[in-house]
Amino acid sequence: MRFDVITLFPDMFNSIKDEGVIARAIKKSHLSIHTWQLREFSNNKYKNIDDKPYGGGGGMVMQVKPIRDCINKIKQANPKTKVIYLSPQGQLLKHKLAKELSTLDSITLLCGRYEGVDERIIEYDIDMEISIGDYVISGGELAAMVLIDTVSRQIPNVLGNVDSLNDSFTNNLLDYPHYTRPKVIDNQAVPEVLLSGHQANIDTWRKEQSIKKTQKKRKDLLSIYKNCLQ
Ligand code: SAM
Repeated sequence: MRFDVITLFPDMFNSIKDEGVIARAIKKSHLSIHTWQLREFSNNKYKNIDDKPYGGGGGMVMQVKPIRDCINKIKQANPKTKVIYLSPQGQLLKHKLAKELSTLDSITLLCGRYEGVDERIIEYDIDMEISIGDYVISGGELAAMVLIDTVSRQIPNVLGNVDSLNDSFTNNLLDYPHYTRPKVIDNQAVPEVLLSGHQANIDTWRKEQSIKKTQKKRKDLLSIYKNCLQ
């Protein structure tokens, strides 16, 4: 999977390129992240890419030309890339969507700043808008990194030995509880079944716990199991 990211702050992506799961996946060539400094597509000597909004009001708007030129440049090498604008107005990023996106070969992410991008970019250059939640953050970079991380986790071999099959949301359930050494701390003991060595019992217990946790914390996720649980 190749990610191209259009941004005013390419260095922000060093945090995921240099450390953790994504950095390891890049080293193993499971994915690559290429950042594009939007200012390099500016046609003025101050490298501006934004201007005042028509109709007045505060804030600045990112202009069409530099963004369009940058997208077209990326498309020269990758004509089939899916162009996504990170936006609070987009489709909510959920596990199912991340899984679908993980099957693509190439994704281009446009990170907005200020009041966002000129609407004509959304109308003509963008395949999809994605939001990370019903709140507004100051720029698309953090949202793009969230998307890159969760999509990458679904790419085969990215997690290596780590088991993501029971991760929260994978089956519309939350993950089961996890414990590690010591067996007892401050009178809190690890559930006996996990020490039993009986894998079938452990699996059953985990499944039950997963359902209980979901019922307690995120009942809404269980709606698809409604008939089975009654
Ligand atoms: N005026 C815009 C609005 O209210 O819809 C918000 C602009 S926001 C300050 C600047 C940029 O941050 C946006 O263009 C977008 O790229 C990004 N952004 C903000 N909130 C986001 C969210 N919930 N999900 C994804 N991107 C977001």
